[in-house]
Amino acid sequence: MKIKVLGCSGAEFPGHRPPSFLLNEKILFDTGSLTNFLDTKGQLKIKYIFITHSHLDHILGIPFLADNLIFAKKRNRVNILSIPPVIKAIRKSLLDGSIWPDFTVIPSTHEAILNLVELKSGHSMKIDDYTITPYPVNHSVPATGYLVEDKRKRRFFYTGDTGATDATWRRIGGQPIHCLFIEASFPNQMEEIAIRTGHLTPRLLKKEISKIKPIPEKSFVIHIKPQYFKTIKEELQKLKIKNLRTLREGAIIDI
Ligand SMILES: [Zn+2]
Ligand SMILES: [Zn+2]
Repeated sequence: MKIKVLGCSGAEFPGHRPPSFLLNEKILFDTGSLTNFLDTKGQLKIKYIFITHSHLDHILGIPFLADNLIFAKKRNRVNILSIPPVIKAIRKSLLDGSIWPDFTVIPSTHEAILNLVELKSGHSMKIDDYTITPYPVNHSVPATGYLVEDKRKRRFFYTGDTGATDATWRRIGGQPIHCLFIEASFPNQMEEIAIRTGHLTPRLLKKEISKIKPIPEKSFVIHIKPQYFKTIKEELQKLKIKNLRTLREGAIIDI
């Protein structure tokens, strides 16, 4: 599996874009960054966008993509997938026609650019060679992570934004996770705000990773607030977790 990092930050600044991970050009996980990264050709290849939760830094790319596709000669329908409360929030607050056109009925109900799809937690769906399963994570709004497995049984788990969780680590454990994308938004000294807002610090991240059995083969730390990048990176290095790294926009990961 090849994943291109279109964005991996916990805020937007020059050189730092919100989370967006592209699997083999066709499947996107979150869309905090998209049309400002991919050209028309790249945008036209996207068929599925899996959303972890409804916060703006994870859904930002949807309206801009829809607006570009409507003017493309050979346009395709894009499926936006998530758990029911997330789909409801997107329908109600992003695509209700008040702040942007409702692309779930444009150009017509039958040929709409966007198709909203509700997923059931713990239920897998197959797209090409991939099996994708949503599992709940704890955040300040309803949120889900995604476990992705290819036909060679290579597996990665993308958490999106998450605080401490137990059940999901138990459910996805027992088999190797070849790659984990996990957040650490705040430095250790901001633990209180991290817990209150459903996020992790390096210290809290270590606790989470120790709950996963077996420990993931490699882990990438995402959603770091760029304002605290240096401190968080130093704190992560002190954890001495094997194959734990930070990411940069534009990186390509082979799993
Ligand atoms: Zn969030
Ligand atoms: Zn976020």
